[in-house]
Amino acid sequence: MAQAIAEAKRCLNCKVPQCRKGCPVGNDIPAWIHELSMGNIGNAMSIINTRSNLPAVCGRVCAHERQCEGNCVLGKKGSHINIGRLEQFVADFDTKMRLTRCAIVQKNRGRVAVIGSGPAGLTVAGELARTGFDVEIFEMEPQPGGVLMFGIPEYRLPKDIVSSEIDKICQLGVRINTGVTIGSDINIDQLFERGFDAIFMGTGTGKPKKLSIPGIENDKVRQAIYFLRRVGLYNAGLICRDEVPVSEGDTVFVIGCGNTAIDAARSAMRLGVGKVTIIYHRDIERMSALKAEYNEAVDEGVEFMWNSSVKAIAANGSALELTVDEAGTERTLYGQKVILAIGSRPASRIVSTTHGIEVDENGYVITRDIPYGMTTRKGVFAGGDVAGNQATVVHAMSNAKEVAAGIATYVDAIKLMQAIDKR
Ligand SMILES: Cc1cc2nc3c(=O)[nH]c(=O)nc-3n(C[C@H](O)[C@H](O)[C@H](O)COP(=O)(O)OP(=O)(O)OC[C@H]3O[C@@H](n4cnc5c(N)ncnc54)[C@H](O)[C@@H]3O)c2cc1C
Repeated sequence: MAQAIAEAKRCLNCKVPQCRKGCPVGNDIPAWIHELSMGNIGNAMSIINTRSNLPAVCGRVCAHERQCEGNCVLGKKGSHINIGRLEQFVADFDTKMRLTRCAIVQKNRGRVAVIGSGPAGLTVAGELARTGFDVEIFEMEPQPGGVLMFGIPEYRLPKDIVSSEIDKICQLGVRINTGVTIGSDINIDQLFERGFDAIFMGTGTGKPKKLSIPGIENDKVRQAIYFLRRVGLYNAGLICRDEVPVSEGDTVFVIGCGNTAIDAARSAMRLGVGKVTIIYHRDIERMSALKAEYNEAVDEGVEFMWNSSVKAIAANGSALELTVDEAGTERTLYGQKVILAIGSRPASRIVSTTHGIEVDENGYVITRDIPYGMTTRKGVFAGGDVAGNQATVVHAMSNAKEVAAGIATYVDAIKLMQAIDKR
C-alpha cells in the first residue's frame, strides 16, 4: 500500500489528462489516482467502477504501453505512472477487503439474454444489470470468462482473479448458465420464445484459422487455442500432463507472433520443452504482440525467426521436418511439435441455426449504429470480437458498453410501444 500511495502521489493530475484519452473505456484515471494518493481506496474503486466492469483484469492484461501509460506526460520526462499496477492494486484490495458494494437495482426494465461470458458478455451483463435489466448469461464452456479463463495463461492472469471479477457481476443479480451452447442446445428463436426482450451475442472468435500448406493436418500440429486450453486444464489439475500436447525436451515451433503465439511459446517453455522458436513472416516492428510480452519471452529463452514462413511440414520418423523460407533462403528445421497461432474468426453455430443475422465475408457479424450494435435481425445485438472489433479485452469492453446502451434504448422503446398499443 505504501508503494501504491507513493506512486499515486507522483501523478500530476493534469487538466487535460492524456492517460484518460488513451484508455478505450475512458477510465477517469487522474480522479481515482488522486483518491488513492490520499489512501481513499474505496473511493478510487467507486470511480473505476463507473467505467469498467473488469478492473483487476485490465490492470493485468491491457496494452498499457500503447494506451494509458503510453500517453502519460511523465513518460516523456522519464517514467510514466504505473497505472496498470495501480489499477490492479485497487481492484485486488477492494476484492480482499470487500470495500465497495454496488447497489442492487430493481430489475423492471426488461429481460436480456447474453450469449458468451468473455469481456464483451460480462460488460453488457454488468452495465444492464446496474441499470435495471434482468440479465441471464448463456455460456457453452463449463466455466464463465471466455478467453480470460481458457486462453490467457495463469501466470499472466490468475484464474481466481477472473472468478472474483465474475462474482462481482453476479452480485448485481446476473445469472450465468454454463454448459449451454446456443445454436445446438437451444437457438435464438427459442430464446425469444422464453420471453427475452433482446439478445446479445458476445461469442468471440473461437474458430482458429488454418494455414494451407502441405502437412498441416499432421497430428503433431496443434492450434494454439487448443494447446493453451489444455495447459489451463492441466494447471487446474483437471487433466494429466500427458494430455497436454507437448512433452519435456521437445523442440517446438510456434507459427505467428501475436499475444496468442507468445502465450503459447512461454507456456511451452514453462512445461519444460527443450527449445521454442517463433516463426513469423514479417519483421519485429510489425508483430502484433506487445513489446513487454516479447521481452519476457526472450528472457525466458524463446527464440525468434523473422521474415520467415513455413512452406511445408512432413513427418520424419517420430519427428517433423519443416521447410522454411527465411528471408528468401530455404532451410529445413527439425522438431517434435508445431503450434499454429495465426489468428481466429467467428464460428457460425448461431448464424447458421437461425435466420436474419448477416455476416461479412470473414464471418464477422454485421451491426448497425441505430440502435447501436443491433444486427440485421431485430432484437439481436452483437459486440466484442465477434463483431470485428480490435481484438483486445479493453476494446471488447468499450464496444460492449456502447452496445449495452443500444440495447437499453431498444428495449425501452419496445416497452413504450407495447404500453401505447395496450391503451
Ligand atoms: C491466448 C490469448 C491471449 C490474449 N491476450 C490478450 C492480452 O494480453 N490483452 C488483451 O487485451 N487481449 C488479449 N487477447 C484478446 C482478448 O482476450 C479478446 O479480444 C477478448 O477476450 C474478446 O472478448 P469477447 O468477449 O468478444 O470474446 P471471448 O473472450 O472469446 O468470449 C466469447 C465467449 O463466448 C462463448 N461462446 C461462443 N459461442 C457460444 C455459443 N454458441 N453458445 C454459448 N457460448 C458461446 C465462448 O465459450 C466464450 O466464453 C488474447 C487472446 C488470446 C486468444
